[in-house]
Amino acid sequence: MTTIQDNLTIIRKQIDAAAAACGRNPADITLVGVSKKHSVEKMRQAIDAGLTDLGENYIQEAVDKIEAIGKTEACWHFIGHLQSNKARFAVQYFDLIHTVDKVKLAKEIDKQAKKINKCQKILLQVNIGEEDTKSGADAEQMVDLARAVTEFEHLKLQGLMCMPPYFDDPEAARPYFQHLAQIREKILDAGVDADAVRHLSMGMSHDFAAAIQEGATLVRVGTAIFGSRS
Ligand SMILES: *Cc1c(COP(=O)(O)O)cnc(C)c1O
Repeated sequence: MTTIQDNLTIIRKQIDAAAAACGRNPADITLVGVSKKHSVEKMRQAIDAGLTDLGENYIQEAVDKIEAIGKTEACWHFIGHLQSNKARFAVQYFDLIHTVDKVKLAKEIDKQAKKINKCQKILLQVNIGEEDTKSGADAEQMVDLARAVTEFEHLKLQGLMCMPPYFDDPEAARPYFQHLAQIREKILDAGVDADAVRHLSMGMSHDFAAAIQEGATLVRVGTAIFGSRS
């Protein structure tokens, strides 16, 4: 077995255990392998080992790699900061964009999706730790933002995404995961369709177990699958 295969086996067991510990069905949790700065070769190994979903952060790097691997070889997730002038590529190459945080960006994605007759699936990114250095909308804006993006014809809102501040102790991230789940409840209470908030994208290599216990449906795991990005 390759290291990537071994890593995937270990992570799947950990996902199953985290789900079992809180009575969730592991089938409701999708492992998104984050391959930024890793080679096409390693990504192919992961796909061969059964990984179905891959996440990338940088448009140019991602476009080159997706062209090399093939669009239909995986479900592609865009998880980096997206500038409006790159929206066209994000729409062309990605199945799910996790990082919509402004109506202006949503509008541009909608426009690009319309051009290729696509209904683009998106998540709304929340700046859950209120960090100046991180993208994402403020928690208080989320109900309005969710309502606004559901108006676009070529967008399909699917949920929320967050990236808490980094802590060595995964337990320290838990309140942030709980907060994202609460924001989802608020959006539901405001009358937004449940299907539009079905996903919570949260949890990374060191804290995905806590995220799963708090309701994550998409966990974004890079280092634990592919090794360090050096
Ligand atoms: C890089 C990255 C990840 C993966 O982080 P690891 O700690 O390597 O698992 C997850 N989400 C986002 C948004 C990232 O940029």
